[in-house]
Amino acid sequence: MAIPSRWLEKLDELPSWLAAQFAPAGAPVGLHEPELGSLEEEALVACVRSGFVSSVGPAVREFEQRLAAFTGAGEAVAVVNATAGLQVALRLCGVRPGDEVIVPAVSFIASANAIVHLGAVPHFVDIEPDYLGLDPEAVRRRLKVVAGGDLVNRHTGARIAAILPVHVFGHACRIEEICAVAEEFGLPVVEDAAESLGSHVADRHTGRFGRAGVLSFNGNKIITTGGGGAIITDDLTLANHARHLTSQAKCPHPWEFEHDEAGFNFRMPNVNAALGLAQMERLPELLRRKRRLAAWYASSLSHLEGARFFLPRTVEESNCWLNAISLDLPDKGVRDALLGALHGAGVLARPLWNLLPAQKPFRGFPAADVPMARAACARFVNLPSSARLADFVS
Ligand SMILES: *Cc1c(COP(=O)(O)O)cnc(C)c1O
Repeated sequence: MAIPSRWLEKLDELPSWLAAQFAPAGAPVGLHEPELGSLEEEALVACVRSGFVSSVGPAVREFEQRLAAFTGAGEAVAVVNATAGLQVALRLCGVRPGDEVIVPAVSFIASANAIVHLGAVPHFVDIEPDYLGLDPEAVRRRLKVVAGGDLVNRHTGARIAAILPVHVFGHACRIEEICAVAEEFGLPVVEDAAESLGSHVADRHTGRFGRAGVLSFNGNKIITTGGGGAIITDDLTLANHARHLTSQAKCPHPWEFEHDEAGFNFRMPNVNAALGLAQMERLPELLRRKRRLAAWYASSLSHLEGARFFLPRTVEESNCWLNAISLDLPDKGVRDALLGALHGAGVLARPLWNLLPAQKPFRGFPAADVPMARAACARFVNLPSSARLADFVS
C-alpha cells in the first residue's frame, strides 16, 4: 500500500478530522445514505406509467434474474424485506414452532425476530473477534454440551433445527467452517446476508454457502428498493415454494381463489423491483467507491492510537458496506464519549448493536457464555460509509 499523505494518530481528533474531510460546509454526515438519481427517477416514472406498481408486473422476475446472475445463485426470490425473507427461508428449511435456531449473540435484532415470528426460539452463541461472525468452534462446543447427537436441548427439551450465521458490516464470517459444523450435526444453514451483497469468500458470493441466504435492500444497505429483500438459493424447489408461500399460497388459476396453505403477503411489489433494477445498474460502481473509501480509511487510520480500523478481509472480497474502528479496550465509557464527540461534530456515527440476549424480548432465552460478543459491543464505532464520500478522498 502506498504511504498515505496524511495519517490520523490521535483518537480524540477523529471527530474534527472526519468533519473536515466529509463536511467542509458543516452539513451533518450520515452513516449511510442511498445513492439515487435520474436512473431511479426514470425507472419509477416508467413503472407508474405502466400501471403495474403492486403485486403484478414484470420488474420482480427481472430483478430476481439480475440478482441470481450477480450472485451466481440458481434462484433469487424477491420479498418485502430481509426480516420476512429470513422467516420464510428458515421455515422452508424445516424450522417449526418450538424449535431452537442457533444465532450469534450480536446482530441486528431482525435476525432473532425472524426466528421468534416463526414461533421458534433464538439460541444465542458467541462470535469470534476476527470477523464478528458466529464462532464455528463455539457452535460445535455448544451443540456437543447442550444437545449431543440427538440435537434436543437437554435443558429446554426443544429440538435445535438450524443455524443462522450473519455477515456483519458486509464482511463474510467464517462461513465455510460454520457449514462444516452444521454438516457434522445435520443442520441446515440459512445465512443472514442482509449486509453483504457483493461480498465473497473464495469467489463464492455470501448467502450461497448454506441452503439459502437472505439479502436486504433497506434504505441503509448497499443498494435499496425502498424496503425489500431476497432469498437466494440453488434449490429450485425451495425457491418455488418461497414464491408461493410469500404470495398468500394462492394456487395459479385465472379466477379461482384456491390456497393450499396459510401463506404470507411477503412478495416484493413491482414498484420496488423497478427501483431495484435501477440500483443494480449502479451496483458495480457503488462497490468500487465503497472499496476505495474503505482502503482510504485503512491507510489513513493505520497509525491510530487506541483503536484500529476493522477490515478483516481484503477490500476485493468484501463489499465494504460499513466502516468501523475497534477500540483497543472494550470500554463503553470511552466508546460513548467518542460517539458523543462525533455527533457534536456532525458525524452521525453509531456503535455496534446491543447484545441480543440482553434485549428485552429475548431475556431468558437459551444463551451460551458470550464474552467476545460482550466485548465487541463495547469496542466498535462505525464511521461514515456512504459511497458518495469516496469522492472526497484521494
Ligand atoms: C438490515 C438487516 C436485516 C433486516 O433487513 P430488512 O430488509 O430491513 O428487514 C437483518 N439482518 C441484518 C444483519 C441487517 O443488517
